[in-house]
Amino acid sequence: MREEEEISAAIDRVLLGEDAIAERVGKMAGEISAAYANVEYGDDGLVLIGVLKGAFVFLADLARRLTVPHHVDFIALSSYNRGETKGEVRLIMDSRISVADRHVLIVEDIVDTGYTLDYLRRTFTAREPASLRSCVFLSKPERRRIDVPIDYLGFEIPDVWVVGYGLDYGDRYRTLPYIGALKQEVYES
Ligand code: 5GP
Repeated sequence: MREEEEISAAIDRVLLGEDAIAERVGKMAGEISAAYANVEYGDDGLVLIGVLKGAFVFLADLARRLTVPHHVDFIALSSYNRGETKGEVRLIMDSRISVADRHVLIVEDIVDTGYTLDYLRRTFTAREPASLRSCVFLSKPERRRIDVPIDYLGFEIPDVWVVGYGLDYGDRYRTLPYIGALKQEVYES
């Protein structure tokens, strides 16, 4: 099968198209820019911490629409294992920018059980930033196992496995420009 045919055979439906995504990300960037309007560039400037790999597309789009000065850094965590309920999260690559006394915004692709974002909040709180907030593209409220605050949220979605716009399944489909629900038989086979 050709790559294109294989992709369309694996996708059940498009949940969020390119235009809806662009519009929402633009609004989020406006909200964040207004909230941090008084933050100055330099050592105390806003620091965006993107969670690899899933958040790389969202972070790129969001950051380019911000009108406040900001720095970009990344962190990588252990890969997610669907069905795992213990909530174990491992740090694979740490951020390089020191965040003490700086305004930090965690940029995450999706919050599912909530364990990853909770781990990130605890990890970064311990580093004593001036402030800590989170910006999440997607949330699956039905799947939440731990109550974790999300300061800026893109969309709530149902309990389906989604790919595209940075999100993968087995490291595939990340660069699709839309958010698609993967066919259940693909991720349950
Ligand atoms: P949590 O710790 O909230 O259960 O899971 C967060 C992580 O699980 C996300 O950063 C993401 O890597 C992964 N994840 C959860 N649901 C999905 C999904 O529908 N699609 C993809 N590609 N990743 C997901």
